[in-house]
Amino acid sequence: MDERELRSDPPEMFRPCEENKRKETQCGTKTMQHQFFPLRVQEAANLGMKAAVFDFVKPSPPGTTWGLGGTCVNVGCIPKKLMHQASLLGHQFDDAREFGWEVPEESIKHNWEKMRDAIQDHIGSLNWNYRVQLRDKAVDYHNYYAEFIDAHRIKGTNRKEKVIEKTSKYFLLAMGMRPRYPEIPGAIEYGITSDDLFSLSYCPGKTLVVGASYVSLECGGFLASLGFDVTIMVRSILLRGFDQQMAEKIGEYMANHNIKFIRPCVPTKIEKIEDGEPGKLRVTAKHQDGHEIIDEYNTVIFAIGRDPCTKNVGLDKLGVQLNKNGFVIADERERTNVPNMYAVGDILEGRPELTPVAIHAGRLLVNRLFGESSLLCDYVNIATTVFTPLEYGAIGYSEEDALAKFGDEDIEVYHQNFVPLEWTVPHREENACYAKLICHISDKERVVGLHVLGPNAGEITQGYAVAMKLGATKADFSSTIGIHPTCSEIFTTLIITKRSGKDITQAGC
Ligand SMILES: Cc1cc2nc3c(=O)[nH]c(=O)nc-3n(C[C@H](O)[C@H](O)[C@H](O)COP(=O)(O)OP(=O)(O)OC[C@H]3O[C@@H](n4cnc5c(N)ncnc54)[C@H](O)[C@@H]3O)c2cc1C
Repeated sequence: MDERELRSDPPEMFRPCEENKRKETQCGTKTMQHQFFPLRVQEAANLGMKAAVFDFVKPSPPGTTWGLGGTCVNVGCIPKKLMHQASLLGHQFDDAREFGWEVPEESIKHNWEKMRDAIQDHIGSLNWNYRVQLRDKAVDYHNYYAEFIDAHRIKGTNRKEKVIEKTSKYFLLAMGMRPRYPEIPGAIEYGITSDDLFSLSYCPGKTLVVGASYVSLECGGFLASLGFDVTIMVRSILLRGFDQQMAEKIGEYMANHNIKFIRPCVPTKIEKIEDGEPGKLRVTAKHQDGHEIIDEYNTVIFAIGRDPCTKNVGLDKLGVQLNKNGFVIADERERTNVPNMYAVGDILEGRPELTPVAIHAGRLLVNRLFGESSLLCDYVNIATTVFTPLEYGAIGYSEEDALAKFGDEDIEVYHQNFVPLEWTVPHREENACYAKLICHISDKERVVGLHVLGPNAGEITQGYAVAMKLGATKADFSSTIGIHPTCSEIFTTLIITKRSGKDITQAGC
């Protein structure tokens, strides 16, 4: 399915069912319109509200656009995780040989175009499903760019400059974020971002990834594992906001697996020296010590951060309060200072910028507004995973934040390296994988931080988030019997404290 199909009227079979049509007319007085996310609008429709969604993707500087579903589906979590999976499969060939598979010795090639098309096809099916779901729930979908006229009126403009106007009692703001470009010559003309990478029409070739965000490390990670020559240029620290010990361990692992890091360093100029797909670019950069470096790359990806899409939407006219970085300020009920305006997702100040957070907050908000519920979104102890070649899962406090909050004397850190059993036969490196629990001593050693670096960290971490939500202590972890042989069982057997300084290399099964 392409953009044109998404934008045209859906076929008969996708028109709203009679039941939904009845609901729409019965409850036509209360309306709720909002930019983006089908699941959240659908929730309003489920509760009998008349709902509409405005979703419009402004093309990226190289001209990339995509379909319905927002960042996650089109240019975020979904294509990123699938490319990560493609990269992990590459390593499995080496392991497979050690386990007796007669994989040909000559190097196995990866086909970028085939992977991209397969992933884009999957995304196309998700776009279509969203469209169908909106139709089924009788939600009006407008592929129009929205701007507020006043607190109850919104204007939409489509790509053919057609303008529509709608009124609504409530608005939910969820415009998300877009990647930032550095203000250096050639950045916008020749650089790309994650918005372009996942549908790139050509093989990226020798690639420079600029930035130390999770997006940078993830993209650099999978590109290197797919066989590309990858350099990551970092201005200062890796993964700002995450546990720095874990961030450095990720960097170390990536550096040991064919990824070059240049740090602390920033690009100052990008020039095109050869046309083509990919062409050739000359990148000039400056080290912190002042010396200049120049190198050539086929592709330069900027992953230096993302800015909220809160400009040019008319929020200034309404007086919606934004912080200095453009994030919407809202209270614990996701209410802005304008009474009928709510906000969820990445544009909210101080909330984790993650898909499930945006969906969950939206769902609870809609249930509070139109249903019986009074539940607020609990933003504490939200698990997350960075899908670097060696995955990193985290819940709660980083070690430095826990020490700053509770003090050195009141924090105990239990930690251990571990070797996944699956890594032993293929002789993968020892002591790259690591687990730590951060415990608040005076609160019965309640676990306030959990960090794991290892295969399938995302799968490991999720369940522990439930335990931490319920206030699990170190004793609870230790009295839980592990599943053997797994990586996750390490959390049931941690005994070495960091302050003891004892050896944490894994002693064996
Ligand atoms: C490369 C990458 C990888 C990621 N990986 C993960 C991951 O593994 N796990 C995870 O949980 N999160 C991940 N994220 C983050 C996740 O994608 C976001 O947290 C999530 O999409 C936020 O949802 P949202 O509804 O706030 O905004 P978005 O999903 O960005 O949706 C906003 C929509 O509104 C549209 N819009 C903006 N302004 C207007 C307007 N004025 N009128 C009409 N439409 C407008 C936008 O075009 C967009 O379609 C990743 C992000 C990136 C970039």
